[in-house]
Amino acid sequence: MKTIGLIGGMSWESSVLYYQTINQKVKEKLRKLHSAKSIMYSVDFEEIKTLQEQGKWDEATEIMIDCAQKLELAGAELIIICTNTMHKMAKEVEDAVSIPLLHIADATANEIIKDGIKKVALLGTAFTMEQQFYKGRLSEKFGLDVIIPNESERKIIHDIVYDELCLGIINEQSRESYLKIINRLSEQGAEAIILGCTEITLLISQDICSVPLYDTARIHAECAVDFALSEEIFR
Ligand code: GLU
Repeated sequence: MKTIGLIGGMSWESSVLYYQTINQKVKEKLRKLHSAKSIMYSVDFEEIKTLQEQGKWDEATEIMIDCAQKLELAGAELIIICTNTMHKMAKEVEDAVSIPLLHIADATANEIIKDGIKKVALLGTAFTMEQQFYKGRLSEKFGLDVIIPNESERKIIHDIVYDELCLGIINEQSRESYLKIINRLSEQGAEAIILGCTEITLLISQDICSVPLYDTARIHAECAVDFALSEEIFR
């Protein structure tokens, strides 16, 4: 079994889910008392969020690279960045280490394609929904037709992520807002919804939503286990 290196803390509410998922999946696959070999480098999210807001992406990239290099030094044999947004600098991080980085969008797109879905809606932070690093990868590398919420919906989604979900606040009204947006995107032709922020799964789950959901946190964590146990990699 390979040792999984996790760059976490963005936010820690979702890093907990990663830790649970990788251990549950290893237990499912290997049984007995098996658990995931892993190392997590967890950052102070307030520092990261401030850099994001100020557009200081170079500084944020330095921090991500530093985390990845420390994980490699500590013995990690693969890296996952436990947030969609901070895949903005995935290439720089990947180039700064000699171990593989499993990209969250690739893991998710592979599942979507396997299910024969072509048109998806992407929910996430404003950075993830609006910039090319994520939806561009989904369309250019995987041929997916990606739609995003309108401007006012994007603001609602983004604000709920930072003001509530990353603080562990689960609000019924916010859940209703998300479901309303999801339904509208489905009417606009989305066959499925990418929960492209690792905290959204705290608010929305498949049992309360009729549109198929792709939870990037779960998919990414499970992909890391598959790789740790089998050497398979999506590139
Ligand atoms: N965890 C979120 C994501 O998946 C947002 C936090 C962040 O800005 O990294 O994008």
